[in-house]
Amino acid sequence: MKVVVCVKQVPDTSGKVAVNANGTLDRASMATITNPDDLAAVECALQMKDANSDVEVVVVTMGPPPAEGMLRELLARGADKAVLVSAREFGGSDTFATSQILAAAVNKVGVGKGDIVLCGRQAIDGDTAQVGPQIAEKLNLPQITYAADIKLEGDSVVVKRMLEDGYMTLKAQTPCLITCLKELNEPRYMSVSGIFECYSKPMEVYDYEALKDDPLIEKDTIGLLGSPTNVYKSFTPPQKGAGTMVEDAAALVGILNAKHLI
Ligand SMILES: Cc1cc2nc3c(=O)[nH]c(=O)nc-3n(C[C@H](O)[C@H](O)[C@H](O)COP(=O)(O)OP(=O)(O)OC[C@H]3O[C@@H](n4cnc5c(N)ncnc54)[C@H](O)[C@@H]3O)c2cc1C
Repeated sequence: MKVVVCVKQVPDTSGKVAVNANGTLDRASMATITNPDDLAAVECALQMKDANSDVEVVVVTMGPPPAEGMLRELLARGADKAVLVSAREFGGSDTFATSQILAAAVNKVGVGKGDIVLCGRQAIDGDTAQVGPQIAEKLNLPQITYAADIKLEGDSVVVKRMLEDGYMTLKAQTPCLITCLKELNEPRYMSVSGIFECYSKPMEVYDYEALKDDPLIEKDTIGLLGSPTNVYKSFTPPQKGAGTMVEDAAALVGILNAKHLI
């Protein structure tokens, strides 16, 4: 059984967020981390491997060459194989083009009956939550989003989805794609032996040549040219005011009354 996990390297937005003069994110000057939801997806795959030694965990990222460092860390945590999808032709891709390329990469890794593709729910930089569902559509796989718990049942998965107002449990046949929430688990750290082993584990690079024969990959479906999204304006929203502290409920009722809100 193969579990393919799509993992994105993102700028660490918990620190100072640097913005270029044109309003775009200054990625080069910011530290990078593994997207939190994706770390939970990797941990979920590793727990499946802990329970069944036949499970092979393959981590896939699309990004610039330095993303190899993140992949090595994931190999040190216990993944079996890593794939770096990287080429000039892929640069400037929006979510449509990104999912097109990642779907072709998953095709090349190969998923069949019994296999699972895991993604994070959402990347903390792009924040769209579109890439996972788009990959599923392009690969014609059943998909379950917002996973807070995943159980394997033979050739099926039973997934507890966390929604705003409750939970929903769904069952799907494999192969399928699941998008994971960081609430799914507590990711493990790299082990010392894992750090030693990560340099001898397989790491493949899929460039344009490697993927160009996939029917999903055309020059006008990837990169900037294949990206239907146009960014018209990008700006930092104005800071909210300080707000007003209210002493007690009676004072609050008085204020709301004065504004004719109650
Ligand atoms: C016109 C345009 C040009 C852009 N050019 C660039 C660019 O040159 N470089 C750049 O970094 N960004 C670029 N972006 C941003 C890029 O589109 C998004 O970061 C990317 O498509 C993923 O979308 P998201 O971050 O909203 O991911 P989400 O949809 O929120 O991610 C959901 C999940 O999908 C998976 N996933 C998403 N992206 C990747 C990935 N790259 N590798 C593996 N798994 C992934 C992860 O599992 C993730 O948790 C551009 C955007 C636009 C609109």
